[in-house]
Amino acid sequence: MSIGIDDSNIPGPVSEEKTVAFEVPNINSLPDDRLAEIAHMRDGRWSIQTKDLLARFGTTKLDLNSGWASTWTGWSCPCCRREKPQLARLSSGGVLLCRLEFHHDHVADRAKRIYRERNPRSEDRDVNIQISRTKDALMPLVERFEPTLICIDCNFAEGRAKLELTTEIEGDFTFAPSEIATFITVGANRVHEIDAEKARLAWLAAKDDFADRIDFATRMAHRIASGRHRREVAPGQRLLGPAQDCDIIYRLFSSAAPSGYRHRLGTLIEMRSLSNDSAGRSPKPKGRPKVQAPNDAELAAVEAAQHETKTWGQAGPNWLCPCCGRSKREICRRSNRGLWTARIHRVLDYLPEDNEESLVRRRSDATSQFIIGSYRRALICHDCRNITAELLRRTAGFEEQSLTLDDLRELVEGATPHSAHQVDFEKAAALAIANAPLLEAIEDFEDHRSRAIEALAEVKATMKLMGWP
Ligand SMILES: [Zn+2]
Ligand SMILES: [Zn+2]
Ligand SMILES: [Zn+2]
Repeated sequence: MSIGIDDSNIPGPVSEEKTVAFEVPNINSLPDDRLAEIAHMRDGRWSIQTKDLLARFGTTKLDLNSGWASTWTGWSCPCCRREKPQLARLSSGGVLLCRLEFHHDHVADRAKRIYRERNPRSEDRDVNIQISRTKDALMPLVERFEPTLICIDCNFAEGRAKLELTTEIEGDFTFAPSEIATFITVGANRVHEIDAEKARLAWLAAKDDFADRIDFATRMAHRIASGRHRREVAPGQRLLGPAQDCDIIYRLFSSAAPSGYRHRLGTLIEMRSLSNDSAGRSPKPKGRPKVQAPNDAELAAVEAAQHETKTWGQAGPNWLCPCCGRSKREICRRSNRGLWTARIHRVLDYLPEDNEESLVRRRSDATSQFIIGSYRRALICHDCRNITAELLRRTAGFEEQSLTLDDLRELVEGATPHSAHQVDFEKAAALAIANAPLLEAIEDFEDHRSRAIEALAEVKATMKLMGWP
C-alpha cells in the first residue's frame, strides 16, 4: 500500500510491540506548574492567570467553580464576550468570584412535564424504554438553544430580567444567550445592568415561536402516548462499535496497574482546581430577644400531638435539624393563641455520584453538568422546610428542590430557638436561580433509574446473543 508519505522518520511500524513506562503523578503534591501541564486546557486555583487575578484584586479568598475549571484560561463568555480576566469580580464579602454556569432552556422542563403527564412510567419495561428515548429525541426540537456555559453575570441578568417581567413573560420561558446579549450593558469586572424594555422586546419577538414549540411538544406527547413513533431497540448496540484506542490503552493500563489501585485522576484534579471561600460567610444576624423555652409538660404536649405524623418518632430523641442544628425542644414555637407547636418534615437530599466508573459511564448520556448518584431522606424542622415553601409563594418558576440542604444551612445560619428563621429571600432566590443545573441533574437521575434497567437488559441481551451463560 502506498499513500505517498515519507515514513522514513516514523520510528517503526505501529504494530510493533512497545513497552511504555510513565509515572502517574501524585496530583495532591504536584507543584502548580506541573499540574498545569497535566490539566491541559483547563483552569483552576493553580493557574498563573488565577493567581494574577487574586493579586490584582488584592485578596486571597477565591470562589472558583467547576464550570470555570472545565474551560481554558482564554475562554470568553459567548453572551457578553468578556474573557476570564474581565469576568472575575469581587463579591461583597471580598471573595474573588470565578464562576461559569450552564444556562439551559426551561421550555424543555415544561415539555418534559407535558410529556410525563401523557406518558406516565408504566409497568412494561419496553414501553418505558420507548418513552425515555422518544423524549430525548424530542427535546432538541423543542429547545430554542443548547445548554450553554455562560458567565454568572449573564445567567443572573437573565434571571433578573424574567423576574422584572414576571407578569408578562410566560413561565418556563428562557432568554437565549443571543437574546441576553441584547439587553445587558457590559463592563469589566462588574455585574451587568439590564434594560427591561429591551428584554421585553426580545420576549415579544420570541413569543410566538415559544408557544409553537409547546404546541408541538403537546402534539408529540399525544402521538407517542397513542403508540406512534415506536422504534425497535437494537440489543447491545451501545456495547459494540469500532475499537477505540483510548478504551484499549485504558484496559492495558488497568491490567498492568496493581490490583485495587484507584487513580481517580479526574476527581483529584477537580479537587485541586476548585476553591469555595464563599461558603458559610453570611453575616450572623444581630442578637434578638430571648424567647422562653417550653417546659417539660409543654414539650410532652407537643410530643403527644405528633401521633398523626411518623416523622417525629422516626427522628428519635436526640435529633437535631440538619439545617439549623436545633433540637426538638428548640424548634417548638408558641402560636398566636399561645399553643406550642412543632413539626418535622421529610425531604429528599440528592447526592453527587462518587463512583468514578459509573460517573464516566453516565456522563455520556447525561445532559446536566452534575451527576447525581443517589439520594437520602432527611428530616428537617418546619421552619427550615418553610423557607422553600415561602420562596415558591414569593416567586414563580422555582421548584421543591430549588434549594438544597446546604443552601438552607447557609440561609439559616445563626438560627435562634423558638422563633421562625430570619431569611434573606433575595439571597434565597439567587441560590435557587444558580441551582438550575442541579434540578436538571435530578431530572437526569430520575431518568437514569429507568435507564439503568435498560442498560442491564442490553447486557443480558448481548450475553444471550454471544451464547454466554
Ligand atoms: Zn457573560
Ligand atoms: Zn440560566
Ligand atoms: Zn431547621
